[in-house]
Formats: sequence, C-alpha cells, structure tokens
Amino acid sequence: MNRLLRQQLRRVARLGDEADTTQALAELQALSGTGGLSPGSARLLNGLDELLQRISASYDHHERDLALRERSLQLSSEELEEAQNKLLLLSRTDRLTQLWNRGHWQERLQEAFERHRRSGADASLLIMDIDHFKAINDRYGHPAGDQVICRVAQTLREHSRQTDVCARYGGEEFSIILPDTRQPGASAYAESLRKKIEALDIETDHGHIRFTISIGVAETSTDFQHPDHWLVCADQALYQAKRDGRNRVSSFAPPSA
Ligand code: GH3
Ligand code: MG
Ligand code: MG
Repeated sequence: MNRLLRQQLRRVARLGDEADTTQALAELQALSGTGGLSPGSARLLNGLDELLQRISASYDHHERDLALRERSLQLSSEELEEAQNKLLLLSRTDRLTQLWNRGHWQERLQEAFERHRRSGADASLLIMDIDHFKAINDRYGHPAGDQVICRVAQTLREHSRQTDVCARYGGEEFSIILPDTRQPGASAYAESLRKKIEALDIETDHGHIRFTISIGVAETSTDFQHPDHWLVCADQALYQAKRDGRNRVSSFAPPSA
C-alpha cells in the first residue's frame, strides 16, 4: 500500500509508526479470514480494504505525475539556461569574424585594468590595423575586403592563447589583451603575428591579395587613471607605427622612460 496513505491512516488511528499500521491492517485481515470477526464487520473490513486499494492506486498515480512534472520543469530550466548562455555569447561576438566584439572587449579591458590596480597583475594591450585597407576594398571589392578581415581574425585566433582576449575593435582594426604579459613579451607576440600576416596570400575572385598590418603595444602602468588612458597610449603607438612607414610594431614609451 502507498506510503503516504499509510501515514494518513497512522494519523487517523493514532498508531505509533507505519509498521504498527501495516501490522494492524494485517491482523484485521487475518481475523476476517479465521472468522474471528462478525460477518457484518468482515464485510465492512473487505469494503474498507477495497476502498484503501483504490485510494492507494490514486496516490501512486499522483506521485508519478508529480515526479514527471518535476522532471519536465527541471528540463525546461536547463533549456532556458542553455538559451540564455547562447544569447549572451551572441551579444558578445562580432558577426563577421566570430571574435569578441568591442563591447565585451571593453569589459575585459576594465577587468585587466582593475586587476593591475588591485594586485599589480601585468597585462599588455595591442591595437592592430590593416595597412591601406581602403585600397584593398577599392581594388578587389568589398567582399574580398571582408575575406581579408576574416583571415586576419583566423590568424589571430591561431596565434593566441586561450586566455588572450582577441576582439574586432571595428572596421579593419583589432584589439588584443595579453594577460600576465609585459611589453617585451607583447612586442615579440606582435612581431611574430605581423610576420604571419605579411606571409599570407589570399585568393579571391579578383586575384591574390597580399597585405600588411601595423600594431601598437602598451603595457599596464600605475600612471593610468582609467582604462581609456591605457587605450590612448596603445593607439599612440599604433599611429607611430603608421608614421614610421607601416608594416611594423611600435611600443608606447612612457615620457619618463
Ligand atoms: P591605413 O594604412 O592608414 O590604416 O589606411 P587604411 O586605408 O587602412 O585606413 P582607412 O581608415 O582610410 O580605411 C579603412 C577602410 O576600411 C575604410 C572602410 O571602408 C573599410 N571598412 C571598414 N569596415 C569594413 C568592413 O567591415 N568590411 C570591409 N570590406 N571594409 C571595411
Ligand atoms: Mg583603421
Ligand atoms: Mg587601416
């Protein structure tokens, strides 16, 4: 008989526990079998027994129903969480390149900036720009230009560690945060990336494209009051690389250095 039903019976009969209830029911059954009960009481007991069986079956049914409902609620909350995670990822991803987008990258820059302030953790910031990209678009067409942007993104992904934060900053500009990396390490990373890009040969419907990039590097500094200040310094280094003739890496040098 259903456990919940036995509990209710125990309450009604004020018996000690469920075992007492089961035993009391068994004794009554035995009495009716040996003729120890009057025929009226035996019939009453049989009727009661039938009624209890029906109630018990109904309890079982509801218990199964409840378990099923709980399971389906659990499933839908898992599905909901999965959908929320997908949406979150989408809101942080650049559509063309599948790199992080600028919004997410800016949050990560803020994090790296605060980590440096709190515990002195090193990090470097790189801003990278495709050289003469307008001429590529003009000569080979916009879709070929998009192909170039995607190839840069792919090279960036292949070149980076899981912990590096690679993003498309906008247009043909990319930004990268290298955690636990100081300026010499970041410059070496940038230089080897520059060489990889220089060696690419992209085949398009309108011919082969070869191109170069310029990169500005700035490491964290206690002089920075705000992450934007850090960004401005990396940007200054990028413009220095452009001024120096493009296809090169330039590092921000603090005025005191
Ligand atoms: P520099 O060496 O000084 O960087 O020259 P540049 O021609 O690369 O610089 P400029 O900023 O003048 O040109 C950037 C071009 O990038 C202009 C714009 O039309 C193009 N652009 C921006 N976003 C996209 C994009 O998503 N796809 C394509 N194909 N082109 C884009
Ligand atoms: Mg640009
Ligand atoms: Mg450019």
